[in-house]
Amino acid sequence: MGELSVSEIRERAKRVIERVNEASAGAGVPVTLVAASKMNDAPRVRAAFEGGIRFFGENRVQELEEKLAENAYDGAAVHLIGHLQKNKVKNVVGRVDLIESADSPELLRLIGKRAADMGITQNVLLEVNIGGEESKSGVSPEALPELVEQAAEIPGIFVRGLMTIPPNDINKQITCRYFEQMRKLFIDMGAKKYDNVTMSILSMGMSADFELAIAHGANMVRVGSAIFGERHYT
Ligand SMILES: *Cc1c(COP(=O)(O)O)cnc(C)c1O
Repeated sequence: MGELSVSEIRERAKRVIERVNEASAGAGVPVTLVAASKMNDAPRVRAAFEGGIRFFGENRVQELEEKLAENAYDGAAVHLIGHLQKNKVKNVVGRVDLIESADSPELLRLIGKRAADMGITQNVLLEVNIGGEESKSGVSPEALPELVEQAAEIPGIFVRGLMTIPPNDINKQITCRYFEQMRKLFIDMGAKKYDNVTMSILSMGMSADFELAIAHGANMVRVGSAIFGERHYT
């Protein structure tokens, strides 16, 4: 399959927005659609914007910086959704509206320190490795309460909620179970009262399962290939 044209991306963006709106109405909660734009250049990002996308998510810091330099996200918000290496913290803090992938006290402290030095507060989500997969980053569900407690003590950050990428399973019942576990964690963590922690965002669901995720409590979904087409890794 070849790459999609910009007009195809624009139309697909509109269609995904409609699907998110329908699922959101069904669940009775507002849902934020984040277009995962990795491996798609600035003109493609602009095509999605023209289709109505107002949030973008990038995986790699270098790609984020390149597209920021090209004003690819103008008029939209941008999130970091991929793993953040400690030596890249300075390239990201204050330049994205939300870091969705914070997963350790060390990383949170570095983010907080950089933000405090800049005189800002950085919004973050805590990434949970709900399936306990070796290959994935994220805090384990068991370690999450302690991480939330530690995060509450760190100046310069504001924890807005949780993010997860569940194990990729063709059996949607299994995926639903992970979504439900996340919903429960989200509610449990939200019951704790800390100054700089509010559990308002639950980011889960991608192209294959975002409607299911919304039905199971997601209020932020990250959708890539349904908008931009399949990615070709070379
Ligand atoms: C690529 C990516 C997505 C979107 O994946 P699709 O299956 O293409 O929708 C969502 N979240 C993260 C963290 C990603 O890296």
